[in-house]
Amino acid sequence: MSIQHVAILGLGLLGGSVGLAVREHANSITTTGYDRDVDVRGRAAALGLVDELCETPADAVRDADLVILCVPVGAMETAASELAPHLKPNAIISDVGSSKESVTKALANALPAHTIIPAHPVAGTEHSGPEAGFASLFTNRWCILTPPLDVDETAVAALSDFWAKLGAKVEIMDAAHHDLVLAVTSHIPHLIAYTIVGTASDLEEVTRSEVIKYSAGGFRDFTRIAASDPVMWRDVFLNNKGAVLEVLGRFTEDLTALQRAIRSGDGDTLHDLFSRTRAIRREVIDQGQDDERPDFGRKDHS
Ligand code: NAP
Repeated sequence: MSIQHVAILGLGLLGGSVGLAVREHANSITTTGYDRDVDVRGRAAALGLVDELCETPADAVRDADLVILCVPVGAMETAASELAPHLKPNAIISDVGSSKESVTKALANALPAHTIIPAHPVAGTEHSGPEAGFASLFTNRWCILTPPLDVDETAVAALSDFWAKLGAKVEIMDAAHHDLVLAVTSHIPHLIAYTIVGTASDLEEVTRSEVIKYSAGGFRDFTRIAASDPVMWRDVFLNNKGAVLEVLGRFTEDLTALQRAIRSGDGDTLHDLFSRTRAIRREVIDQGQDDERPDFGRKDHS
């Protein structure tokens, strides 16, 4: 099975990046695109995110071998249901959503007769919209595919090959495991960032201008994550409820243990934990997942 035409639905950070990455790394593949927002369609056309910008989802998918839904996870079912009568019979339907069990169900409900292979490129930024897209977003990043058990293996191989061409490293996993892993590595860290930034801005004893002025003490690193798109993240928490609540329960217990250690002056507990976490940072760097330079290489430290 060869993918010669990709339709991208939703032309924000992820959709725009897929379009630009195809042009940069796989330019024999034709791209069509559609976004429900007329203003986004105009901006996407001006930025040249896809070869052909379409005015309807039907026009975008009609000749596509692969359709990638790049919309918030809560919008997947509606977006997919508009496509059914217009798809080629053997088209692969995929997505880039950040949670996978709910998206798998949503796509299967909307398109029961089609080949569905959910996917999640673990790559992103805190920016959104068509201007945020860039061709190297997926370079050296993982793309996790969560194919249902009965899916055509040649379609899985074709989709894996597509993501590898865009520079991603592909991993196959079941959807429930994906949701648990991403709850730990992405969803809970975002929830913590949203909480701490919200808490700091609500404090009465410390003024907001002090919080911002002295933010280099650590707070500013949370503000980057907490600036992420509100619609996308609302949908992630509502759609990965089970795994998020499970990991949050563990996190709350660990936080309570730290609270107890601080209150009782138990320095060993604090030191042991901080030593283990420092070693984890080392592994993240050794595996090429972040910048080794102090403070992420910010220029005031170079
Ligand atoms: P984004 O920049 O906000 O772009 C999403 C676009 O989809 C918006 O223009 C939106 O229009 C449009 N849209 C919504 N419903 C639609 C529909 N039914 N048909 C066509 N277009 C529709 O969001 P993003 O950051 O690219 O995120 C897209 C997906 O990627 C999400 O599922 C997210 O979980 C996943 N993801 C994001 C990241 C990240 O770091 N941002 C990383 C990995 C995966 P409106 O503004 O009018 O709603």
